[in-house]
Amino acid sequence: MSLDRRRSVAVKVGSVIIGDCNPIVVQSMTNTDTADADATTKQVQELAVAGSELVRLTVNTNEAAAAVARIREKLDALGCYVPLVGDFHYNGHKLLLDYPECAQALDKYRINPGNVGFGKKKDNQYATMIEQAIKYDKPVRIGVNWGSLDQELLTKMMDENAREPTPLETDKVMQEALIVSALKSAERAVELGLPKDHIVLSCKVSGVQKLISVYRDIAQRCDYALHLGLTEAGMGSKGIVASTASLGVLLQEGIGDTIRISLTPEPEGDRCNEVIVAQEILQTMGLRSFTPLVTACPGCGRTTSTVFQELADNIQTYVRSQMPIWREKYIGVEDMNLAVMGCVVNGPGESKHADIGISLPGTGENPSAPVFVDGEKTVTLKGDNIAEDFQKIVDDYVKNKYAIK
Ligand code: SF4
Repeated sequence: MSLDRRRSVAVKVGSVIIGDCNPIVVQSMTNTDTADADATTKQVQELAVAGSELVRLTVNTNEAAAAVARIREKLDALGCYVPLVGDFHYNGHKLLLDYPECAQALDKYRINPGNVGFGKKKDNQYATMIEQAIKYDKPVRIGVNWGSLDQELLTKMMDENAREPTPLETDKVMQEALIVSALKSAERAVELGLPKDHIVLSCKVSGVQKLISVYRDIAQRCDYALHLGLTEAGMGSKGIVASTASLGVLLQEGIGDTIRISLTPEPEGDRCNEVIVAQEILQTMGLRSFTPLVTACPGCGRTTSTVFQELADNIQTYVRSQMPIWREKYIGVEDMNLAVMGCVVNGPGESKHADIGISLPGTGENPSAPVFVDGEKTVTLKGDNIAEDFQKIVDDYVKNKYAIK
């Protein structure tokens, strides 16, 4: 399936290209202390293995800036070449000047125009960051955020609005201020000499309808590549649902060149979940393929045991764990479809539609599980080793079906 994507100016970030109808890029952000180079290297590598194509790091202190080049070296030594993005607020101008190895090691700088200073200082500090991007030939993301909107700009626009005969609602003025902040900052960067193909824009808010409205608007007003994300999406299902609801609408309209899902992890939770959610949004919408997905029925009164849920979970986890190897070796394996179904009602039918499907026995059914490969019933599994046997069938299918790279 291909949607009509909004045309945008392509931006090269290390080995990755964002925009101009290139595949929508998945990115993520670490939550380790960047100054802890070992912990950050480990997490960047985990995010990259999970499929993050860009990884952003906080660069907030001298120690963090000093660690960036070491992190890059460590990652390279591990064979992990994922591009790194530095997230700067308040002191980015100083850190980029004081730590040239950091400025060089990063592949992109994220600049928040609301957090670069005030008055004349703001203009100078913003210009310094752009000059460093020009000096090191790095692209930037001008990332405006609802929570840190340029207050001088907002006040000025609010005052102007108040003088209008029919003033707009406050929300509308704030939305316009977000967009104007991004567009004016981009315009200033171009005036300073940064090429347009070195600029990505984002305007993040935390409400679903607001995000859709802001991005529809900015998408019409410029051809910069756009980074999409619902900021502060939240925890668990709420974060996933809110991100999917907003990004789904925009992506369907062809808006968005790179995405990040800002999930709050559970305590001790896996940071890589934000990468998996981003991939699954794109894959279930038919926009990109990353990992074979398992279709599974929800279960009902016909499934009184948990066997089919366990098998669905087991096979999805197994496939995900194999993907870093399969992805390097086999062409097109990410498009494989698997089905794990709970009983005879929809089991055989759904299984036949998948590349490999298994229909487990429901309550009272014959305790056997027919397996369908490319729509044909091939074998019936029985006994205690159904999970292992099914895994082997999947392994054999991958080896025989997909050409070696
Ligand atoms: S396939 Fe069977 S077990 Fe699964 S939801 Fe449908 S009727 Fe229930």
